[in-house]
Amino acid sequence: MMAEKPHMNLAVIGHVDHGKSTFVGRLMFETGAVPAHLIEKYKAEAKEKGKESFAFAWVMDTLKEERERGVTIDISHKRFDTDKYYFTVVDCPGHRDFVKNMITGASQADAAVLVVAAPDGVMAQTKEHVFLSRTLGINQLIVAINKMDAAEYSEDRYNEVKKEVSQLLGMVGFKAEDVPFIPTSAFEGDNITKSSANTPWYTGPALLECLNNLTVPSKPDTLPLRIPVQDAYTISGIGTVPVGRVETGIMKKGQKVTFMPSGATGEVKSIEMHHEEWDQAVPGDNIGWNVRGIGKNDVRRGDVCGPAEKPPSVAEEFTGQIVVLQHPSAITVGYTPVFHCHTAQTACTLMAINKKLDPKSGQVKEENPTYIKAGDAAIVTIKPTRPMCIEPVSEIPQLGRFAIRDMGMTIAAGMCMSVTQ
Ligand code: GDP
Repeated sequence: MMAEKPHMNLAVIGHVDHGKSTFVGRLMFETGAVPAHLIEKYKAEAKEKGKESFAFAWVMDTLKEERERGVTIDISHKRFDTDKYYFTVVDCPGHRDFVKNMITGASQADAAVLVVAAPDGVMAQTKEHVFLSRTLGINQLIVAINKMDAAEYSEDRYNEVKKEVSQLLGMVGFKAEDVPFIPTSAFEGDNITKSSANTPWYTGPALLECLNNLTVPSKPDTLPLRIPVQDAYTISGIGTVPVGRVETGIMKKGQKVTFMPSGATGEVKSIEMHHEEWDQAVPGDNIGWNVRGIGKNDVRRGDVCGPAEKPPSVAEEFTGQIVVLQHPSAITVGYTPVFHCHTAQTACTLMAINKKLDPKSGQVKEENPTYIKAGDAAIVTIKPTRPMCIEPVSEIPQLGRFAIRDMGMTIAAGMCMSVTQ
């Protein structure tokens, strides 16, 4: 049963056209995530036409059709399972909401497959995605050097690209020697589920084995309790029921909790998940909970629930390290875009640009620059226009990441370094 295996969110990242969608289609096809009767049907047709990749092409057509229908997400939210895990493919960077979803935790990836086309090697988005993954806290990476069929399955070319990618990984702080590299062809199916005869020089594991070798991220249950509120309902006979996902810590029935910024405090009366009552909730649980004495006006989306003795912090001002992803012109002091942090959306003003950093090494390039623009990294001081819960990533990483949105796009991504209360 799929549901009994541990679940992992997987991001498939890499430069446009390097084969990300094809990869996801291939994984789904080879792991049987495509309904068996359809595979059989298409296999039979493929045999008739003497075209082996025909069955697989069906999966690709389905993905393409979805994209053409304007379905917001193409390869994301596809599912497949291996012997050990049950995977959900989350948005890939480049998708409009990737950064926002990663940051707000809607699709926090546990691991990523970086797809690099062998004929091209490292390209602009390869760098951007690797850097973003690191910033967003994805620590497990697998590199697929793809389109090996289009590079004559050349070991030399593979080694060249491997070296290039290793250098890039090293620059952003991944330990390249711990990252598995695999020569693949997503299109032909080489080294996806089993070793391919086309790459006799490669003796390492196929992709599926690498996916099985990933480790389940440890649950942050020793950190203080934090549950960002997604919504709050009023249910007759029960009262106010906030809903949200436990990000860190454990909530127990009977415990005294506080909602910030309102400061409303009360005792947890009930915890519900999947229409069942529970005595406690742990990180990852999506729950509804009821607190004695909390009214409808004490809690709303964007608030954070924590233990009464260590409530979530509300920032008067905070410093953040940001990376500017896209902006049509220059960002200066006074800029007031919307910050998306956990479930909160709050307009915040840029009070100071303290330092401009080299986006790759993190070294200081300029003190107090007058502006920053796309491609820059910086340390900035930020003031929320109304009370907002945010915490330093060094204390509670899940509550410290944010995306900056304006003009319908993600302008920047960042993390909170310190908070002035
Ligand atoms: P994405 O933009 O990264 O999602 O790339 P796609 O999966 O859409 O692939 C872009 C193009 O490369 C398509 O025409 C694919 O058929 C082709 N492609 C993908 N993987 C391979 C591969 O392993 N070998 C070859 N030769 N072509 C591939």
